[in-house]
Amino acid sequence: MSTFLLEIVTPERKVYAQNVRMIIAKGSEGELGILPNHIPLVTPLRIAPLTVKREDGKTDFIAVNGGFMEVRKDKVVILAESAELPGDIDIERAKSAKERAQGRVSGKKDQIDLIRAEHALQRALSRIEVYGKKG
Ligand code: ATP
Repeated sequence: MSTFLLEIVTPERKVYAQNVRMIIAKGSEGELGILPNHIPLVTPLRIAPLTVKREDGKTDFIAVNGGFMEVRKDKVVILAESAELPGDIDIERAKSAKERAQGRVSGKKDQIDLIRAEHALQRALSRIEVYGKKG
């Protein structure tokens, strides 16, 4: 079965580098399935879990915080503000971030505060979902 290299990089570290069979990502225009030999593209990503089918047939879930996905001829690179595998996630921290963000979303502040709070809420929900898929 053919594979391609997936790299996930944040400002802090290289989070992931594996040969994979398929990626399912949430792009700004909707869900994207990437298989080997996909046409090159660059797309912004939503704050959402990324699903990765590995070479060994297992599935990895990664909480990717926005950024961009670049599909190249030979590999796929995701550059994100942050990205965590289930084992990296502090679930209590994510739950309290969720509660804080929910309070701010319903707190009716100005538009920029609302967008920030919604993004914080999406990060927390994505982390909680990925943690729930811990193998
Ligand atoms: P918090 O309000 O808890 O700080 P946040 O969504 O504002 O959450 P980020 O700014 O997205 O946090 O991330 C800052 C750093 O902390 C990144 O390196 C990210 O990987 C890490 N991080 C954030 N939340 C968690 C978590 N629940 N478990 C593990 N690492 C986390």
